[in-house]
Parts: sequence; C-alpha cells; structure tokens
Amino acid sequence: MNSLSFQKYYVRFKQAALRQRATLTYLSNGGYIAQFGTGPSFAIMSGLHGDEVSGPLAILEWLENLSDNYKPPSKLWIAPLINDDGWNKKQREWHNIDLNRSFNENAPNFLKEIMTSLKITKPYFFLDLHEDSDLNFSYIYQFINDKHSWTQQLASSLDIQIETWSDFASWETASEIYIRRLGCDYCFTLEASPALTLQNRIKLHINSIVWLENNIKVFFDTE
Ligand SMILES: [Zn+2]
Repeated sequence: MNSLSFQKYYVRFKQAALRQRATLTYLSNGGYIAQFGTGPSFAIMSGLHGDEVSGPLAILEWLENLSDNYKPPSKLWIAPLINDDGWNKKQREWHNIDLNRSFNENAPNFLKEIMTSLKITKPYFFLDLHEDSDLNFSYIYQFINDKHSWTQQLASSLDIQIETWSDFASWETASEIYIRRLGCDYCFTLEASPALTLQNRIKLHINSIVWLENNIKVFFDTE
C-alpha cells in the first residue's frame, strides 16, 4: 500500500511540482512545501497522521495529473505529507507526538517551518485531508459560526456527513485552529472513512480539491 517511502514520495512530489513551475520550500525533515499561482492562498495540507495514507496519495495523484498548462484558481500552497517518521512506520504519531495537536511553540522544527510559511502566506482557503479509523462513514468538520455555506455544499457534493463543532478550546493546537487564528474563515478538515477502499478514499480527497478549486474560481470571478 504505502511501500512508497516518505523519501520516494518527495522525489515524485518535487518533480510534479516543478512541472507546474512551483517554488519549493525545503523543510528540515526532507519534505517540501510547493507554491504556485497568484492571488490569495488556497492551502492544502495532509499527512499529519502517518497512518492516514489516502490524503498524501490523493494530492500526489492530483498534482501528477495536472496538465502542463494548468492554471490554479488562486495561489496554491501545498504541504502534502508532513509526518515523515509516522508515514514510514505506518503510525499515526510522529515519535509519539500527535502532530495535529502540536501547532504551538513546542512543535518539532519542520512543523515550525510549516507554521511560519502559513503565517506568511495567510491562507484564504484551507483544506486538511485525514482519515478517521473509528467511524464507518466519511465527514467534514463544520464550525457552527461560519458565515458561509461552503461546508454544507462541499459535504453534499461529496455525499458525506457533517460534524459540527463550536469550541476552539477543545481543538487547541490542531491545524485548523492555528489557521483560523491567522484569519482564515474557509477551513475544511475532511475525514475519509477506511470503510471505503483506498482508491475511493483517494477519489474522495481529489474530489474535494477539485470542488474547492472550482468554487474558488467562481468566488474570484464574481467578486
Ligand atoms: Zn488524521
């Protein structure tokens, strides 16, 4: 399944990103952030949890299949596979640390580098791709105070459920909270269910990227 090591993943990611003339930011764990296009940032992240393989694989498949003259709807900021140790060991944690509870001053260096890059790029849109192995259905988180209906629309387009949340305190140091604090209101954390085949989880994630791309394009065209 992921016989593709972290190192091999990044050889392919780098090649596909350079084909889109992306600017690459080297991370101290050997990963990269790729950025290309212009305008407000659409940040895509995955692989915080090493055993959730479908998100990173979806980003790679999506990127490798873009045409050479692809034009992103906005600036893309992509950190596709963050947890090096967990990925290679097929484990959720990074050296016993949950990276999605580590967006603070105690973050390991490569995560601090990602946090700094996010602070600079100030995402307007944010997508974080996960899997939830405890549930037999896929869902997307919705913050109840959001003033837009993108989450409902995205959930209905993907035919998945919605899990609402209201309290920043219960999710402190998770990626979405960090990014919301940078001023981003269009945040989407997607959880694919392992009840789906790997191929269908990958498809679900790719569909979420494509849906957001299309809506971002309409959003800026009609502004
Ligand atoms: Zn996860």
